[in-house]
This record gives sequence, structure tokens and C-alpha cells, in this order.
Amino acid sequence: MNFGECAQRVREMVNLHGTPTPKRGIWAALIRQRCPRCREGKIFRGLVTMNDPCPVCGLLFQREEGYFLGAMYVSYFFSSGIYLVLHALWSILRDDWFSYATMFRAMATFLPLVPLIFRYSRVVWIYLDRDACPTDFSAGPYEKMRLRQLQQNTEGPN
Ligand SMILES: [Zn+2]
Repeated sequence: MNFGECAQRVREMVNLHGTPTPKRGIWAALIRQRCPRCREGKIFRGLVTMNDPCPVCGLLFQREEGYFLGAMYVSYFFSSGIYLVLHALWSILRDDWFSYATMFRAMATFLPLVPLIFRYSRVVWIYLDRDACPTDFSAGPYEKMRLRQLQQNTEGPN
């Protein structure tokens, strides 16, 4: 058994929700901002509004209060890289490396990308977290409470 087969077996073993094996690859799902478990449900329903839980398989995206604080690290990483590239591009275009004008031009071209960076930061954070801890075994009180609420909502009032 090679590593890929072994990883697939482990994934099947921890798949307690009976979600069918996703058809989409993990990178395709990440780029399209889809749920890390079913890879079909959209993580976002608006520009910055999230679907939570996943509309297809019911996976909770926000696992604890302040969960998306972790996405700020990803956001910082993306923003720094993108800003540096934009600054370098404007510097080369205008042959002006260290001036406020170059900085403002880079900022002006960076700002429209903020929603995109916001979304991908959260998506990458969810993927990293779900890769490290795919099951609900280690769920904290907040996640347990939300899972219970979801269960009650699907059962309906009796
Ligand atoms: Zn899903």
C-alpha cells in the first residue's frame, strides 16, 4: 500500500458522516472555495457572507468562537506577498522604487483585492484546520453546542 492509498483508507475510516468520496480534487475545491469535506458546498454565499454549516453536507466551518482569528495569519501572509509584488510592479513600471507615490499606487491596486484575500484566507484556514483535525472527536464546548443545535433543527419540533 503506497502513501496515497493509506491516506485514502484513513480518510474513509474517519468519515463517520457517511459523506461519499468527493469527486472534486482538493486543490480544485480550495480554488473554488468549496467545503473541505464534500468539496461541493460553497463556503461563501455573498462577497463576505459565509454559509455555515456547509449547505451540502452540514460540516461546521466555524468550530469555535474566534475561530477565524487564525485566518488572520493566512491573510497577513497573502497580503504581504501580494503587496510586495504590486509594489515591485509599480516600481518597475514607473522606475521609482522608494517614494510615497509608488506606495499609494501599490495600495490603490491592492485594495480591490481585499475581499478576495479575506475569502481565501478563511478558506485556506478551514482547509488547514480540517486537514490537521478532520473529525469532531476533539470538539470543544462551542462546536458541541452547535452540532447539538444542528441536530435539533434537522429533527424538527416534536
Ligand atoms: Zn460540505
